[in-house]
Amino acid sequence: MKCLMFEELGKLRATETTDPTYPVWIRVEATGICGTDLKSVYVGHKYFKPPTVLGHEFYGQICKAPDNFPLKKGTWVVAAPYYECGECPTCKAGKGDLCQNKNYVEAGSFAQYVGVPENYMDGLFVLPEKKDTADYDVYALTEPLACVINGTSRLETIPGYSKVLIVGGGPMGALFALYYASKGIEAAIVEPNDQRAEKLRSWGISTVKQDQVQKGEYDNIVIAVNIASLVEAYLPLVRQGGTLLVFSGLPKGEMLSVDAGAIHYSEVSVKGCSGFALSHFKEAFETIRGNEKRFRQMITHRFNFEHGQEAFDMLKAGKAFKILIGADINGREEA
Ligand SMILES: [Zn+2]
Ligand SMILES: [Zn+2]
Repeated sequence: MKCLMFEELGKLRATETTDPTYPVWIRVEATGICGTDLKSVYVGHKYFKPPTVLGHEFYGQICKAPDNFPLKKGTWVVAAPYYECGECPTCKAGKGDLCQNKNYVEAGSFAQYVGVPENYMDGLFVLPEKKDTADYDVYALTEPLACVINGTSRLETIPGYSKVLIVGGGPMGALFALYYASKGIEAAIVEPNDQRAEKLRSWGISTVKQDQVQKGEYDNIVIAVNIASLVEAYLPLVRQGGTLLVFSGLPKGEMLSVDAGAIHYSEVSVKGCSGFALSHFKEAFETIRGNEKRFRQMITHRFNFEHGQEAFDMLKAGKAFKILIGADINGREEA
């Protein structure tokens, strides 16, 4: 089958790879490129070493399945790339995102097909019927939104009191803001890049400059950029009793130096989160289904595998927002 192969650091190529071996196949229509993919390709990632096929934010159609499989061929689905076992002590304690015994799809989705086990039904969500294939694109945002909802579950937002500040207006920061907008909660983004800030405002998201942020103005601050010094800079600004969420991944062993007074006297909590649990994925799916237009705006381009390198380079240069890639997409389209 066709795929976009991550060949070596900084290099991707449209080529062939082996077909899935799992019994259920999803024909991948499109996959979103995410921050982890970018990091893997340009910086390196300990779990995703080349040569390999990346990609996990995907949707498509069931195209092969045993006769007794509950979904018919042709059914459009979005698949969770993994989900928790549901049975271990961690899962029983309600912390499924930390389960060490997760179920996974077979391989990366920058490919024509992704295999899933026969008992993967909990991780498959049937999409509402659409006229145009491209109208399904918004569901490629389910997985990143699930990670964001994992983050929002760590924050307490009190109607009429809470204000959320998101530091970093990349796709994840934008998803936080759009999620809160869909719930009627006030949220603003700090984004230093003017073009990017303008784009965010065109979607109805408020933006502020870092030096405009007043101490105590926001009771929830989300760090959605992987820069440790931002954690240190924003912690003293959190309103008393509030929370600072370390959302973007910081390397293991990276040390932070934080204001102890903020934690003790101002009762500010520092929290973190990574990935999602199945409950977050379900909520992400429902949220998108109820707000397709709001979230759809974030997808700026659709490319096929031949344009894969270009797509990654564009994102790295900050020249696109969310790019979807798929074998059956026609060339290179502005979405
Ligand atoms: Zn992702
Ligand atoms: Zn578990």
